[in-house]
Amino acid sequence: VTHPDLPTRLRGVVGDGGLVTDPEGMRGYLTDWRGAYSGTAALVVRPGSTAEVAAVVRICRELGVALVPQGGNTGLCGGAVPDSSGRQVVLSLDRMRRIRAVDPVNQTITVEAGAVLQTVQEAAAAVGRLFPLSLGAEGSCTIGGNLSTNAGGTGVLRYGTMRDLTLGLEVVLPDGEVWHGLRGLRKDNTGYDLKQLFIGAEGTLGVITAAVLKLFPAVRSRATAWVALPSGGAAVELIGVFQELCGDRLTGFEVMSRQSVDFVLRHQSGARDLFAAVHPWYALVELSDTLPDAALDELLERGLAEAFDRSAAEDAVVASSPSQVAGLWALREGISEAQNYEGPSLKHDVTVPISSIAAFVEATDRALGDAVPGIRIVTYGHIGDGNLHYNLSKPEGSEDADFRARADELARIVYDSTRSFDGSISAEHGLGQSKAGIIADYKDAYELQLMRGVKELFDPAGLMNPGKVLPLG
Ligand SMILES: Cc1cc2nc3c(=O)[nH]c(=O)nc-3n(C[C@H](O)[C@H](O)[C@H](O)COP(=O)(O)OP(=O)(O)OC[C@H]3O[C@@H](n4cnc5c(N)ncnc54)[C@H](O)[C@@H]3O)c2cc1C
Repeated sequence: VTHPDLPTRLRGVVGDGGLVTDPEGMRGYLTDWRGAYSGTAALVVRPGSTAEVAAVVRICRELGVALVPQGGNTGLCGGAVPDSSGRQVVLSLDRMRRIRAVDPVNQTITVEAGAVLQTVQEAAAAVGRLFPLSLGAEGSCTIGGNLSTNAGGTGVLRYGTMRDLTLGLEVVLPDGEVWHGLRGLRKDNTGYDLKQLFIGAEGTLGVITAAVLKLFPAVRSRATAWVALPSGGAAVELIGVFQELCGDRLTGFEVMSRQSVDFVLRHQSGARDLFAAVHPWYALVELSDTLPDAALDELLERGLAEAFDRSAAEDAVVASSPSQVAGLWALREGISEAQNYEGPSLKHDVTVPISSIAAFVEATDRALGDAVPGIRIVTYGHIGDGNLHYNLSKPEGSEDADFRARADELARIVYDSTRSFDGSISAEHGLGQSKAGIIADYKDAYELQLMRGVKELFDPAGLMNPGKVLPLG
């Protein structure tokens, strides 16, 4: 199917252990974590060093073979999954997991791209520091994938996305050259900031092999509350109350609609409703501080009292033990899985200016309800970033296939509404293959033309993750 010399040439670089060619061994690399995207591949190559990545890329370029970089394969838009031609090669970073250096004084950690996020968090904690990126897939996703999707998660409000957390990169370019940009500098005004081109590029401009990431002082106290809200708009008011009162100590603020919580209560063992009454929306508020005795509970109580005065909250529970904190986060983190028990979940990951969230939710819910009476809308997310996961489940009792058949039409409703509120159709998951075909309808034409120019400059042969981010042709 592909060039006959390919396996032998690659084996010469990575050895037998670095090549997977049998269908059984390749299976896990060809379907994403959710099972939503599948492809086939000529083979999977697993280089063990930057030099090996560079040699692999050079061979593939010489033989005209397209590469699909892959980390933990937990991405939600099919970016790490090859196409169905059987001619592409999956380049997995799963043998490049080393923590190369930890520098607590410079507050940096240097890691290889295949390092699992949780391992990096633990290596930082071991020297009394925090690496703040945190997301549901942290036990499996890798730094290379986090960088390539500019991952966000639950700490963005305080610490930013991967763009904000990265000081330097090492990248193998599509021609096989290595860019040694592993600088640990917080100031470096020597021209264009090239690393930002690779962050969020979803593997279309090169293979990231290592990164220098920022560390922060460890968190030593925490306070967490679960708050019942009268409306989605009240969440925006509530976050304002806490931001004014606590500044940077507000490190987590997640919201979820009643429908989201209903699914978790129905399907998560041990989950229980924390209030006697049913409320339309909920927020999970988390304060944290580097001081061990920061009296955050008092601060939380003050914020809640003000929220009650302003009618921005209807009820609240403050966690009083680590297990209660874990229970509150489990309610939030369990939404995605719980929704899977209710038939197909049509996922949308959008962002609008925070000031527009209430109007956006109202308009979008109405349009979806008009299109599919009885549709169940599972809205939740990182409201401090203006980011909502707008996931849809079929009306109770209806057929999966009928609902799935309307996926594109319903996505258009969500995305058209997002556009009308000056938002973006991908907040943190990226475009991958799922949105490469429609991004032209939602992004400025000149901006897309500039993006194509960048792609052409770095990858004129079009062999680096083709068909992802930008449509082919
Ligand atoms: C339960 C769950 C919760 C999640 N929560 C969040 C969340 O809160 N916030 C969020 O942002 N995302 C979230 N995600 C999405 C996903 O975990 C992230 O996108 C993650 O950053 C992907 O990392 P990965 O290593 O699995 O990347 P992969 O899925 O392997 O790859 C993702 C993309 O990056 C490219 N890539 C991977 N490694 C490299 C490399 N070394 N060089 C160049 N390109 C590369 C791939 O080609 C692909 O385009 C969640 C996913 C799950 C399953």
